[in-house]
Amino acid sequence: MLRAPLLAVARSRRMRALIEAVPATRAVVRRFVSGADTADAVRVARELAADGRTITIDHLGEDTTDAGQAAATVQAYEQLLSALAEQGLADGADVSVKLSAVGQFLPDDGEGVALENARKICAAAEAVGATVTLDMEDHTTTDATLGILRKLRGEYPWVGAVLQAYLRRTEQDCRELSGPGSRVRLCKGAYAEPESVAFQDKSEVDKSYVRCLRVLMAGQGYPMVASHDPRMIAIGQRLAADAGRTPSDHEFQMLYGIRPEEQKRIAAAGATMRVYVPCGNEWYGYFMRRLAERPANLAFFLRGLATR
Ligand code: FAD
Repeated sequence: MLRAPLLAVARSRRMRALIEAVPATRAVVRRFVSGADTADAVRVARELAADGRTITIDHLGEDTTDAGQAAATVQAYEQLLSALAEQGLADGADVSVKLSAVGQFLPDDGEGVALENARKICAAAEAVGATVTLDMEDHTTTDATLGILRKLRGEYPWVGAVLQAYLRRTEQDCRELSGPGSRVRLCKGAYAEPESVAFQDKSEVDKSYVRCLRVLMAGQGYPMVASHDPRMIAIGQRLAADAGRTPSDHEFQMLYGIRPEEQKRIAAAGATMRVYVPCGNEWYGYFMRRLAERPANLAFFLRGLATR
């Protein structure tokens, strides 16, 4: 019931200023975000590696309309990748990139700027043996993001993208992206979307998720099952086994701070378990989407504020 208002708050600059100004908020945010600096992300990557989990790191930021900020985000990814390499943690690591953080919404040729900036991040990743996955934002950006993915894959065939099961179009997108070499992270979707483009009912979203997983697991690409939902994970495991897949040709993914014991259990059972680790100061939108998707997260936040 609170999902829609919380997602509206996630896009409000005024609410952002208010919520960021509450000192206790930051302490609660730390459950979901590794920290402000590259060093925090590297520390978390090392901790996760110790029990067999791997990483995709998101340098937080989105919706920028400032070319300087987009360039700074590229630099932050370059620094992050070289810091991971220095610590021997880059090989097999991944970074998650939001195109709106690297220029997609700039008034002057935003798509071109985002493509160039994403290219730079891909070059830095390739140099250290890491990969890049393009996060998916609201539905108004899906076509443009998939267009940039196609261009990047011409040079860096290992670039992956996220598809969102709540969108009605996604089963078809999965068919188009299930070919050899294609890396697709399937999630349910985290934005407020209209009924014209997205299933509204949770059970419809779950059914779509399963249909999409079937397509991806039966295909020739590399499916990435991004969900904390025990039912989706069990279905992913069964479909992978039915398709004769091994841990080297598909993986499971969860967000940092969510179901960590389950993450460890999946990794210990021999599957590839990748944790999405956000870092940086621009945590507001990401954090509010986490509150919107689960009442327990909101309760945790409110309890945290009350006890500090
Ligand atoms: P939900 O429907 O939220 O939850 C289903 C069940 O999972 C719950 O009933 C419960 O049993 C279990 N569960 C969920 N959370 C918890 C918890 N905190 N503790 C215990 N049990 C829990 N969205 C986008 O729109 N674009 C992206 O690019 C994107 N990237 C993502 C990357 C990764 C790696 C992941 C994991 C998610 C990403 N998301 C993205 C977010 C995603 O779309 C969902 O909003 C989010 O994952 C919640 O959906 P869910 O599948 O976990 O299941």
